[in-house]
Order: sequence, then structure tokens, then C-alpha cells
Amino acid sequence: MANLHDMVAHIDDYLAVPQYPDFCPNGLQVEGKSDINKIVTGVTACQALLDKAVELNADAVIVHHGYFWKNESPNVVGFKRKRLHTLLNHEISLLGYHLPLDVHLECGNNSQLAVKLDLSIKERFDVDGVPALLFWGQCQRKLSGSEMVAKIKERLQRAPLYVPGKHEYIDTVVWCTGAGQRYIEDAVRLGAQAFITGEASEQTVHIARETGIHFYACGHHATERYGVEALGNYLAGQFGVEHQFIDIDNPA
Ligand SMILES: [Zn+2]
Repeated sequence: MANLHDMVAHIDDYLAVPQYPDFCPNGLQVEGKSDINKIVTGVTACQALLDKAVELNADAVIVHHGYFWKNESPNVVGFKRKRLHTLLNHEISLLGYHLPLDVHLECGNNSQLAVKLDLSIKERFDVDGVPALLFWGQCQRKLSGSEMVAKIKERLQRAPLYVPGKHEYIDTVVWCTGAGQRYIEDAVRLGAQAFITGEASEQTVHIARETGIHFYACGHHATERYGVEALGNYLAGQFGVEHQFIDIDNPA
């Protein structure tokens, strides 16, 4: 059994939470009971994940996409009331980690995506004032554009949106999970043959076509499943608590 506040303090330190400017609070977003025996992790604190946490008797839910985002309405009405009611009624804590969990070198989304796709991390770059958010690295062996599609499909169980590039083989790759599509120009500037992210915007496709970089949008959800799961496994080891990752499927 672990103490909630010890766990939160440990994660703050482990993920270097205070270093990051962000669009949401990172850490304990909703406080529940102080004794933790079981944690559930998931990508987003949606109702389906909370219902599953109740069913599994979890004491805390840890997510990448939590609540209280800048620019969203702060009113606790409708689906937001229902979510908060579920947490408070069952005394389940909600912990959310956004940018710190994208960047972390062991259990971050970018690092875990590298493991999934056999990419070795060579360097990381600051973007938009966020330290080391953009990853640059190398494929285990050179792949053609369509071999990379096949690898993504197999490893992430999802076919990417793919814009073929001009290079016969991909050796170096720049990547950023989630909504990282705006960094495609950084990837071109860094000389990578491919850019991998979660989402695509209309203009991303044109930029890919006109610069000749291979572009893969693999899904915001699909690219961000692995960081929070790795964090849960880490915490289970550190605190001797039970951990279960729950994937609530999301095609976006
Ligand atoms: Zn995200």
C-alpha cells in the first residue's frame, strides 16, 4: 500500500514536473482517498475509463489527458459533472501528466514510441519553449516508406495516414507523439527523411508533398498509449501497488 501524497511527490520529481510550462495542471487534479492499493492508467480521463476504474476498485487513475485545460469552460456541468461525480463519489484520485510525460526519457510517450518502432534516440530539441519535446533518431535498419507503414501498422495496430516522400530509404526520423504535426518544418530543417506524429492537419500534407519528407500521422491516441502505461509499471515497481492499463479505443 502507498500513500497518495508520497506517490504524487515522487512522480513530480521523477518527471521533473515543475520544469514544464503547460496547458493544464500536472499532478494531482482530483483528490481521493489517501491509501493507494491499485492504480489504473489510461490515455484520457473519459467516462469509460472512470467506469472501468470503479469496476476494478482502483484508488487512483493516472492519465496523459486530464482536466482543467486552459481556454476550456471551467463550469462543472453536463459530462464534466458526471466525470467529477464518479471520481468524488468513489474517492478515486485523478493524476494527470501532459508535457512531462511526452518528454521523459524512460517512460515518456516519445521514448516509448521509439521502443515500439525500433528507433534509437540521438538528440532532442526544444520547441515552443518546451525542453526536449522533439525527438531525432535513427532506424535500426534503413526502411522504405512502405516498410515503415507496415511496421507502424503491426506495432501500433493501426494504419497511419501516409504521405510518401522523395527518399528511397528512411534512415533518420524526427518524431513527436500526439498533436505534433506543426513540427514537420523542424523535421525538414533537421534533414530527416521521415516525420512521425499522431495527428495531421490539412496543411501538413501539402508541406510533406512539397518538401519530400515521408510523413506518417499514426493517431493521437495510438501514439500516446505507451507513456502512461510505462509510468504505471514504474510506479507498481516503486510502491508495490497493483497496476492495470486500460485502453479505451479512440480512432483519432
Ligand atoms: Zn496528447
